[in-house]
Amino acid sequence: MRAATTMGGAADAIPTIPRATKRCRGCNRTRPITFFWRGGRDPRCKVCRTRYMRRWIATHRDAFTAWQRAYKERNRDLIRAYHRKYQRRRRALIRAGKWKVGRRRAGSA
Ligand SMILES: [Zn+2]
Repeated sequence: MRAATTMGGAADAIPTIPRATKRCRGCNRTRPITFFWRGGRDPRCKVCRTRYMRRWIATHRDAFTAWQRAYKERNRDLIRAYHRKYQRRRRALIRAGKWKVGRRRAGSA
């Protein structure tokens, strides 16, 4: 794991937590540390984080689109490699007759 470096303060507010739990800043509930992203460093639990991100994206549509575009640009090779691997696996499974096609419109023929 990473060293316990603080990223700009506020991380040391709680001393050492006896059990691996943490209070969520969103819902105020105490959750196990596994409920938090970034190895437990996220102030919001996963449920709250998802809700928060949904709202943020809805209110910052343009910024999110720009970020997404920049991300794809930055990780072009990584994404390419991922898709290549995925398609290779998919084709192999199709050949083996094991590719499960999702529930498309039933009764096309
Ligand atoms: Zn929460």
